[in-house]
Amino acid sequence: MSKNKKFIDAELFTLSPDGLSDENRINALDTFIKYIETQKNHLLGYQNGLNFNYEEDIGKFLNCHINNIGDPFIFGNYTMNSKVIEKAVLDYYAELWQAKKPHSPNDPESYWGYLLTMGSTEGNLYGIWNARDYLAGRKLLIDQSNHSQSSMRRKEYAYAVPIEDNPNAYTPVAFFSEDTHYSIIKAMRVLNVHTFYEIGKKFYPRQNPLNYSGEWTKKFSEVPSVGGKLGSGAIDIDKLAVLVEFFASKGYPILICCNYGTTFKGAYDDVKVMGEKLMPIFEKYDLIDRTVIYDREKHTDVRNGYWIHVDGALAAAYMPFIEMAYKQKKVYSCGPVFDFRLPWVNSIVMSGHKWIGSPWPCGLFMTKVKYQLFPPDDPEYIGSPDTTFAGSRNGHSAIVLWDHLARNPYKSEINKAIKCEDLACYAEGQLKIVQSIYPNLNLWIERTPLSLAIRFRKPNDEIIFKYTLSCQTLSIDNEERHYSHIYIMDSVTKELIDEFVNDLKNPAAFTA
Ligand SMILES: *Cc1c(COP(=O)(O)O)cnc(C)c1O
Repeated sequence: MSKNKKFIDAELFTLSPDGLSDENRINALDTFIKYIETQKNHLLGYQNGLNFNYEEDIGKFLNCHINNIGDPFIFGNYTMNSKVIEKAVLDYYAELWQAKKPHSPNDPESYWGYLLTMGSTEGNLYGIWNARDYLAGRKLLIDQSNHSQSSMRRKEYAYAVPIEDNPNAYTPVAFFSEDTHYSIIKAMRVLNVHTFYEIGKKFYPRQNPLNYSGEWTKKFSEVPSVGGKLGSGAIDIDKLAVLVEFFASKGYPILICCNYGTTFKGAYDDVKVMGEKLMPIFEKYDLIDRTVIYDREKHTDVRNGYWIHVDGALAAAYMPFIEMAYKQKKVYSCGPVFDFRLPWVNSIVMSGHKWIGSPWPCGLFMTKVKYQLFPPDDPEYIGSPDTTFAGSRNGHSAIVLWDHLARNPYKSEINKAIKCEDLACYAEGQLKIVQSIYPNLNLWIERTPLSLAIRFRKPNDEIIFKYTLSCQTLSIDNEERHYSHIYIMDSVTKELIDEFVNDLKNPAAFTA
């Protein structure tokens, strides 16, 4: 079904060499805003915050090109940038995620980060790139034995000298759960980082430590989640540890991508328990404080042989507030710690258009100075090192995020997070009532604890379109189950949930 066609007439937007008359242009735009507003008023299926009004504060910047090209902490030659605002936003998250601030290039423990022009997809790409080069023994931006400006401005990579008795010492192997967002898999492809499954299948056939037959079947292409497809969606740490130990014992450095708020189930990988379980393994196989010897400049470096990246697209933005609410005894539980309090966390990403809400995709990447990449080039042209993924970077996003944070003290973020959790609980209860009117049809209603998502059997196309629901097929044993979910974000009201639940009560709701 061509959904757009049903609701907007594409003809209205057709451009010609003569442009459009004012009347037609305005009519087209009016049609489009009506369409967007209708959809916005019913959006339930994606984790986008929509409860914002930036027009007053941000509207005036729409006639300015604001571009944060280059490193956020170096002003650069392009003066129409919002880096001063970007830095304020980065400092805010450094505080929230308990990283050492302020950023200083001379303090290896301090944080470094930047605002993404894409969403978490860019942050995942950047984090995995950073991890790959760190683990593969390429030279870092901050050379701790040499702080001279000239060394920072070198434009060549130095490579680690191969280790004779360990040919795998600089080949990172990646681990992530079956509930991981597709952007991680894409990043692995783009960056040519191999997963444990690819390496296992190729070099260690019939040695899969998780399978009694030793086969690397498709089932093991990703790390299992607790309880598999029917489970909560969090990574199975015991199984991860078995896999990590297998590859660590073969000499490989380990790259782990955790989910903090999985996309479909909204589950939280327990990054704390994971680190506690894995650190002894890293220790046992000399993956902590490895000495890397470079092929150039008679120089060595000390690095870890592991990298833990936290994809916190949604939950890194709100779980800190649930934790505060928990400490203030306003809620009964909170998610596991995921931030820079854990010494094994190397990088964190978050999307700006999810919890906070923004008119366009945006996000934030954060790591520590000591893990930073050596920029491939230091272009004189922009007057600021090219330490980010994008060239030109969206300068309006910094103002949008700053505006939200300036208007919303911790107190209101805490209340907002509690409200969403309460409403998710309400929605779950209402859906269970819907189940009772379908005695012969299992609606598979489930909510992972503290998740803002509730999953259930996919309804008909009309309902999917009305509420912009996302769909996901899960293969459970030999059965294919088609699911949808709703996400309870700040813009969702009790009335909207009631309307949705009412639509599900229509006998045709679950017919294809
Ligand atoms: C949404 C999401 C992403 C991708 O974020 P974009 O902002 O769409 O690029 C990555 N990881 C997780 C867990 C997500 O939920």
